[in-house]
Amino acid sequence: MSSENKKILVTRSSMPDFEEYMEEIRPLWESAWLTNMGPLHERLRAELMDYLKVDGIALFTNGHMALEMALDAMQLSGEVITTPFTFASTTHAIVRNGLTPVFCDIEPDNYTIDADKIEALITEKTSAIVPVHVYGKVCDVEKIEAIAKKHNLKVIYDAAHAFGVKFKGRGIGSFGDASMFSFHATKVFNTIEGGAVCYSDSDFEKTLNFLKNFGITDKENVDFVGGNAKMNEFQAAMGICNLKHIEREIGKRKKVVERYLERLEDKEGLIVSGVQDGVESNYAYFPMVLDNYKISRNDLYDYLAGHNIFARKYFYPLITDYNCYRERFADCRLPVARRIADNVLTLPCYADLPLETVDKICDLILNV
Ligand SMILES: *Cc1c(COP(=O)(O)O)cnc(C)c1O
Repeated sequence: MSSENKKILVTRSSMPDFEEYMEEIRPLWESAWLTNMGPLHERLRAELMDYLKVDGIALFTNGHMALEMALDAMQLSGEVITTPFTFASTTHAIVRNGLTPVFCDIEPDNYTIDADKIEALITEKTSAIVPVHVYGKVCDVEKIEAIAKKHNLKVIYDAAHAFGVKFKGRGIGSFGDASMFSFHATKVFNTIEGGAVCYSDSDFEKTLNFLKNFGITDKENVDFVGGNAKMNEFQAAMGICNLKHIEREIGKRKKVVERYLERLEDKEGLIVSGVQDGVESNYAYFPMVLDNYKISRNDLYDYLAGHNIFARKYFYPLITDYNCYRERFADCRLPVARRIADNVLTLPCYADLPLETVDKICDLILNV
């Protein structure tokens, strides 16, 4: 197939060399220790703690279960203030814990939860805030921390997009009471499927680790109604390999994002944004918002698809418009989130995306 006709998808998984992965998993045929916190799991855990600059980390079979169990271990009740501009997982994790999500509108520039609108939503039932570092953009962590302290609320970040991001030199996973990372195949760093929760409280750590292994506390005691969400050795091996190359992968992503910015910045009707002040980015996504552009978002999506470029309407629809939530949240007023969801297009962005393809995508967008 010629490169002209090849489909360009919004993302493509980073993978180590085949031989490199084989070397990592070879000892498993000796030990036959395939899961349940084996040596590769423990090695990846230590390496990630160091790389992410966090005090504690628990590994999971995927990011969603990591978030669901983090909320469970936090022993929350009542209402949780969160963002509607995210992936299904964030809200589902709240609802599946028997908690009520209360949706707060987002910032027009960063698309993260609008910290200035949080306090108005706090009631005597509020127990936590679940913000999302959406596209790897950092929430207003300082304002959120001040609000949480004042009202005695827990803060659990969905940092699924923010692997390796730093704010003012600190690992992003060190903010709040806990942060969840996703290591899904489509994310900046992957363990095929996988995830983690970062924290600093050691009691929380204990509960969390029991929850992911059926609540079993020792050979004859089960103290928690847990589930099964452990990361296995094959996942950990993939993580160990991918972590070796993460700086190079993020460096390649940076080149892709910089080329997009060079070509699309200051173009009438298109809003794109660079790295926030104080942030060391992971260049996870490249969202572009249309603002009275010569063509609608949906038409541009179709036009690009006609040229084998598959961007994504990410995040559209808003969570509150999902069939499973629509009736329950029909009264939510979320004008900014709605405007962004209706006009955003996330362009292809991954380490191995050739810059010539970025140019081709930009040409198509600009000459449409
Ligand atoms: C990917 C993602 C998740 C879920 O992570 P999985 O590892 O796929 O389970 C949660 N929240 C957001 C914002 C995500 O993008």
